[in-house]
Amino acid sequence: MGMSFPEEYGRIGASTEATACISSKLAEAWPSLQLIWSVNTALVGFPITTFGREDQKRRTLPFLASGEDFGCFAATETEVGSDLSALKMTAEDHNGKFILNGFKNLITNADRARFMIVFARIKGWKEDISKRHAGITAFLIESNEIGFRDIPGIQISSIRKRGFGGAPFCLVEFDNVVISEDSILGEQGKGMSVALATLDIGRLGIASQGDGIARRALTETREYTKTRTVFDMRLIDLDVIGLRLAEHEAYTDVIWKGVLDACRKKDRDMPFSDDAAKVKLLSAENARRVARDCCDMFGGYWYTYDYVIGDIKNDAEILPTYEGTAEIQKSVIIRKHRKL
Ligand SMILES: Cc1cc2nc3c(=O)[nH]c(=O)nc-3n(C[C@H](O)[C@H](O)[C@H](O)COP(=O)(O)OP(=O)(O)OC[C@H]3O[C@@H](n4cnc5c(N)ncnc54)[C@H](O)[C@@H]3O)c2cc1C
Repeated sequence: MGMSFPEEYGRIGASTEATACISSKLAEAWPSLQLIWSVNTALVGFPITTFGREDQKRRTLPFLASGEDFGCFAATETEVGSDLSALKMTAEDHNGKFILNGFKNLITNADRARFMIVFARIKGWKEDISKRHAGITAFLIESNEIGFRDIPGIQISSIRKRGFGGAPFCLVEFDNVVISEDSILGEQGKGMSVALATLDIGRLGIASQGDGIARRALTETREYTKTRTVFDMRLIDLDVIGLRLAEHEAYTDVIWKGVLDACRKKDRDMPFSDDAAKVKLLSAENARRVARDCCDMFGGYWYTYDYVIGDIKNDAEILPTYEGTAEIQKSVIIRKHRKL
């Protein structure tokens, strides 16, 4: 966990490129594990490393790095997903404490985490009020117990889902949850910057996850089509199968080069948001397309539990949606041209 965290907090300060390579390999082996790892590393560890105070870093990063503890990133709400600037959760300033109220939904790792980054809008915020993100603030909630059981007012319930079975996600309810002012992560009212910087990193994580999932689907399908015969021919020797596999391999390899290129830009401190949106969009859509088509090449057998390809497809289906849907990535990409 957390190989990208700086050495003083228990890890090796690995580059974004190296982290993406590990991320892809993890997703190839077990997508749920990669998702848990990626939330700890990218969605929780990164914003704490980048925006956190020294004491916040010391209390969280070594535990996230060792894998002893999990973190979760709570941005999505029951009524708000893509448009984070419309979030409804409130934080009321009350004599040096904040009282949180609202609902966060689809939050990976919440029931097993001890640290949570949560976004809420400060009630009565007076600055930048013409902006939709006015008052949004990031808070780092630290608990002594898994699932925040020692914090009155936090209620977590798991939600059943169709894929990523090993990485649960949850509804998190906040009912007058009192936290200290010290829980603010970064600056008060600047939560949107924390969220956007984190999502850029998260998109590189999903792009590398897409690579791993596409590669696993292709490996499984190549193996299967070498053993299955129809009309005395191996499936892989039929052009209608072999050429499809070749095309998927070509797209997957070339998209991966784009992912690495985007990671290198981040490592060189160059702007990379546009690249992150592009590679997230293409890698996620490629993984879903490859997984669907690979299922097709298994004939009726993908639908059984005898082969893992059906599970790979279930995992791949959601990639274009989470960490910003395909439409959101496209709107990030077109934004620069519309400004002109
Ligand atoms: C497995 C999984 C794990 C997740 N883990 C987390 C997590 O750990 N933390 C977290 O905060 N969230 C998490 N999420 C939530 C995820 O990030 C959201 O589902 C995603 O951001 C989309 O939000 P939404 O589901 O509310 O869809 P909506 O925002 O309701 O979007 C619905 C549809 O409308 C389209 N749409 C919305 N706005 C626009 C627009 N401006 N222009 C064009 N089209 C638009 C979308 O593209 C989509 O097709 C997770 C989701 C899943 C499935």
